[in-house]
Amino acid sequence: MDKAEELTGQNYNILEELLLGDALYHYEFDVTTGIIEHDIISRDGTNYMELLGLPSPCRFNELIEHSFNGRYIHVEYTLDSSVYILSCEELLRAYQEGRKRIEVKLYLADKHQYNRLTYLLMKAEETGHIMAFVMCQDITEIEQQWIRENASARKELEETNHIISDAGIGTWKICLFDNEKPRMKGNAKMYELLGISPTELTEEEVYDFWYAGIRKSSLPTVEASVAEMMEKGKSENTYVWAHPKWGEIYVRCGGTSQYIEGKGYVLCGYHSDVTEIINSDMKQRQLLADALEDTKKQKKLLQEALDNYKQADYDRRTDFLTGLRNRQDMFELLQDTLSGRRDSIKAMFMMDIDNFKMLNDHYGHVAGDRCLQKIGAALTQYGKEHNMYFYRYGGEEMLGISFGSDKPDSETAQELVQLIYDLQLKRDDLERGVVTISLGYTSDNSEYEKMIDKADAAMYKAKANGKNQAVCYEQGGQ
Ligand code: GH3
Ligand code: MG
Ligand code: MG
Repeated sequence: MDKAEELTGQNYNILEELLLGDALYHYEFDVTTGIIEHDIISRDGTNYMELLGLPSPCRFNELIEHSFNGRYIHVEYTLDSSVYILSCEELLRAYQEGRKRIEVKLYLADKHQYNRLTYLLMKAEETGHIMAFVMCQDITEIEQQWIRENASARKELEETNHIISDAGIGTWKICLFDNEKPRMKGNAKMYELLGISPTELTEEEVYDFWYAGIRKSSLPTVEASVAEMMEKGKSENTYVWAHPKWGEIYVRCGGTSQYIEGKGYVLCGYHSDVTEIINSDMKQRQLLADALEDTKKQKKLLQEALDNYKQADYDRRTDFLTGLRNRQDMFELLQDTLSGRRDSIKAMFMMDIDNFKMLNDHYGHVAGDRCLQKIGAALTQYGKEHNMYFYRYGGEEMLGISFGSDKPDSETAQELVQLIYDLQLKRDDLERGVVTISLGYTSDNSEYEKMIDKADAAMYKAKANGKNQAVCYEQGGQ
């Protein structure tokens, strides 16, 4: 009958849990007395005690001696176990310290078998004794798999070592093992690139030396790359490293990682000085930046020259006092119009300030000048709004040229007379009290050269008619 069935309550549940796993056999004993209370039973019902030729019940240390003495070659403790060959005293102490589960891994040399023993400690309800249930699992398959993987990892490492010694560029290997200081090894080129002699330093010192040389600004890059190597298996990066003799060098670095079970990571990779490449790239960039700067300067100079030219051209065409266009500009306009390079002229308006001499005499020439400026500004503005050019034709005579407008020229003429009147440039030397103009105009554009004379003639007619008015040459202004 299966002993497990005899157990009740909590003990039974735990045992069942154990047996449902990979358990091959289990035994249980009273830690307090050291006597194995129950026989060792296996899942297939084999009585292990009988198999071992031991009495049942027997003492725990007898079992230990019989089972393992001289037959195990290697015992590894895992999880929270720090107990060597577990004695009853040790198990009792472990229980009192609050441990409920202890795992021990052992290798039976003569059977070439790996076992994991799981001790589960608890207090028996009726007697108060401390009971240990032990499940023993044959983990030979798992262990051998691990050994195979480890061996292949080691083999790869050997191969990496081989690559390290043969490669033409710096190659390295870094061991990041648990609970050990990081170590670094490289080929001759690597040590040359680091500027060190490998015989003078341990692998740990080589690692520290390399790490200390990484420029602060490059540390995040390197650390991210190492993390990527461990996580994804490989990574590449470029960083700045302080060489003891050459100063800052640019390093192109890449590597792969290998995880060794129970040990940690081994990273292997290359390390090459790409300072020349980076520098020439930076030189190229500098040249480009300089060229760009030059272009900007050239552009600025050109812009200045253009601005100067525009200003000079404006000055050349503009009357200094009034801001109106000058005779030079008028001459060019007529040339362009005659040659068809410009729109045709539709009408001309000749204007002369009324009684200006008297204004000068009465208020002085400075006041006269100011008056001319205001009239010039008003006409320029009107010209912009009505597609007309205004010229200072003589001292206080101005010529307006129209290139065509929706409104009749008579209206424009009236508006111009009114425009000056509306400026209300005060003068108390005259009955009218403000500055006015007389205006003569012509709309006959059959001959440009004659238009000025016609407008001028009409202007004199306006003077004769009493000033402050407009007269059309074609309508009684001749
Ligand atoms: P009218 O109504 O017949 O035109 O009388 P007027 O006094 O205006 O006569 P006229 O047109 O012949 O006089 C031109 C005067 O304009 C003479 C000159 O002193 C003055 N003048 C011409 N150019 C300037 C200038 O640049 N500044 C000043 N302050 N006066 C000028
Ligand atoms: Mg005048
Ligand atoms: Mg005049």
